[in-house]
Amino acid sequence: MSQLFDVVVIGAGLVGLSTAHSLLQARPGLAVAVLEKEAGVARHQSGHNSGVLHSGLYYRPGSAKATYAARGLAAVAEFADAHAVAHATTGKLVVATDAGQLQRLDALAERGVANGVPLRRLDAAQARDVEPEIPAVAALWVERTGLCDFPALADALALEVLRAGGQVLTRHPVTGLREVPGGMDVLTDGMAVRTRVLVNCAGLFSDRVALMQPDVTEVPVRIVPFRGEYAELVAEQAERVRGLVYPVPDPALPFLGVHLTRGLDATVRVGPNAVPALAREGYRWGRVSARDTVASLRWPGVWRLARGMAGTGLGEISRSLSRRRFAAEVGRMLPGVRAEHLRPGGAGVRAQAVDRTGALVEDFLVLRRGPAVHVLNAPSPGATACLPIGADVSARALAVLDAR
Ligand SMILES: Cc1cc2nc3c(=O)[nH]c(=O)nc-3n(C[C@H](O)[C@H](O)[C@H](O)COP(=O)(O)OP(=O)(O)OC[C@H]3O[C@@H](n4cnc5c(N)ncnc54)[C@H](O)[C@@H]3O)c2cc1C
Repeated sequence: MSQLFDVVVIGAGLVGLSTAHSLLQARPGLAVAVLEKEAGVARHQSGHNSGVLHSGLYYRPGSAKATYAARGLAAVAEFADAHAVAHATTGKLVVATDAGQLQRLDALAERGVANGVPLRRLDAAQARDVEPEIPAVAALWVERTGLCDFPALADALALEVLRAGGQVLTRHPVTGLREVPGGMDVLTDGMAVRTRVLVNCAGLFSDRVALMQPDVTEVPVRIVPFRGEYAELVAEQAERVRGLVYPVPDPALPFLGVHLTRGLDATVRVGPNAVPALAREGYRWGRVSARDTVASLRWPGVWRLARGMAGTGLGEISRSLSRRRFAAEVGRMLPGVRAEHLRPGGAGVRAQAVDRTGALVEDFLVLRRGPAVHVLNAPSPGATACLPIGADVSARALAVLDAR
């Protein structure tokens, strides 16, 4: 390929595709290519998640997560309507199942209000009107929440990129980066693709891709993969759940907790839990990568994180290894669920950035290094927020392009 691109984006997940789409919207005629190692788009986080359009309830007021989730929810719904992508506004119920959770439920409500999320506090009877089978002592009803077929959204974005003259090159794993005068050579599939600006949206491999850049000797985070496993409820149990039911989140964890989701196809999935994955694309315990595990263990933050989360982590691991214990956890929200009511429901692996001190990076993280823009943390609600994140990253890439 002898063409010189203005911008090459690595990764055809929702963030990479949205960035490419946004670049071509902002500057029609720009030479843009997306390089993806898999045979299709959205093969990792963007295609293995809960499929929920989040309202912005949980996140620190003023954070990119809070603003982009709210903006993204509306933008995705509009884009989905225009491109025949299945989506729905369902609302969701966040339930306190014992009095000890009420304080946290109220704190969550305050956060939601601070983020401008319309919500209603429900007492036990009102909560039972919404979800009769859930033993809530109180709940929050969050109307502005929905579902989206995220793989179809990724397909539609890819099609828009192609229509606008961009390229989406699957089966193009990026294996190295070389700086050349005026830009970079991106090494893939035995050839070099030359670009003025590089955008790294490689998700689970984003830190590794950033470190391929010759003059980048350090980035402030490493990606630590956390698997989220799902189970599907058998039909007679699924009938007991009307919509989306979430627990009050545990402040010790950055994840939302095992929830019940009646999807667009009407199946009810429970999950995801959060267990350390032994490979970046470790969708099950048997998938172990020595390289990924050693890379994690060489990062000081991982040891600190492991010490800090030992108790919670072991509980999550034991529920992952025992369907009976997983069912017991689900039973706190849906009493009577037993192991035989659960079928395997797939898994996703979260790309969670961890800093040197062992802190899980809370907000989206985008860094510029020379001619490159690196997206180093785009976990949930990254699918909901993909359009505003893409607009943000695209603006940064254009600023780099214009400055060259
Ligand atoms: C279990 C789980 C549940 C979630 N639930 C929700 C939810 O309900 N709602 C929500 O809004 N968000 C949710 N999320 C978060 C959401 O899925 C992510 O924020 C979003 O998909 C991130 O998109 P991405 O493009 O950054 O990453 P990805 O989709 O992972 O895309 C990265 C791409 O880069 C490619 N790549 C990597 N390395 C290379 C390389 N060297 N060369 C070429 N290509 C490369 C990969 O193959 C991949 O296609 C969830 C995530 C998980 C894991």
